[in-house]
Amino acid sequence: MSCLKERKSIQNNSSVIALSPILNNDGLMSVGGRLGKSNLPLIEKHPVLIPGKSHVAKLIVLHYYAKVCHQGRHFTEDAIRDAGYWVTGCKRLVSSVIHKCVICRKLRGKLSFQRMANLPEERLTPGPPFSQVGVDCFGPWQVSARRTRGSVAQSKRWGVLFTCLSSRAIHIEVVEELSTSSFINGLRQFIAIRGKVKVLWSDQGTNIVGPINDEHLQTYLLKNGAEWKLNPPHAPPI
Ligand SMILES: [Zn+2]
Repeated sequence: MSCLKERKSIQNNSSVIALSPILNNDGLMSVGGRLGKSNLPLIEKHPVLIPGKSHVAKLIVLHYYAKVCHQGRHFTEDAIRDAGYWVTGCKRLVSSVIHKCVICRKLRGKLSFQRMANLPEERLTPGPPFSQVGVDCFGPWQVSARRTRGSVAQSKRWGVLFTCLSSRAIHIEVVEELSTSSFINGLRQFIAIRGKVKVLWSDQGTNIVGPINDEHLQTYLLKNGAEWKLNPPHAPPI
């Protein structure tokens, strides 16, 4: 600053020598640069030099960071330059402000996850595939059931998904309706293909709980030596 005031050349070890600083009309040190002859606004031609380690620099960064709505380093840097400031070490200062910003830390932070409990025994005991089975229903889908004269008759179909708890293999049966008899049909088909089932696990969804409480299904399970267990409500899938 004193060199500039006394119109002396700046010392070689000055940290701003590369910016060839000049004094502007207000007596503030600003960037000289090579744009002197352009018709850009004065603040763009000769932005005011702000030492990056000063408190003012931090305030300026905070101000423009808020003004660009926390949009990140590049937006903030651009806003500061647009406003006619040249903060030395701007990149680092902006990064440190962003790093410490509580709002961004909160909003961009990692989500926390529920720590899962031990795997249930059924998933770890080796055995024939599909001896411990998870069951669930999904659907319905609209399918074209048959062609009528000039159009197609639509009807609904559901899927029953069986998954082996130890091998994670999957078997899907199509059922025609969400009734107990349809469900038993699906189950019979599944057992006929995949072999005996020891335990069936399911959630307590209404489409499952209905059939389970049914006498027919209970007899069917009893005959096949199978047991049906329900997961507790809102439990994660096993
Ligand atoms: Zn922020």
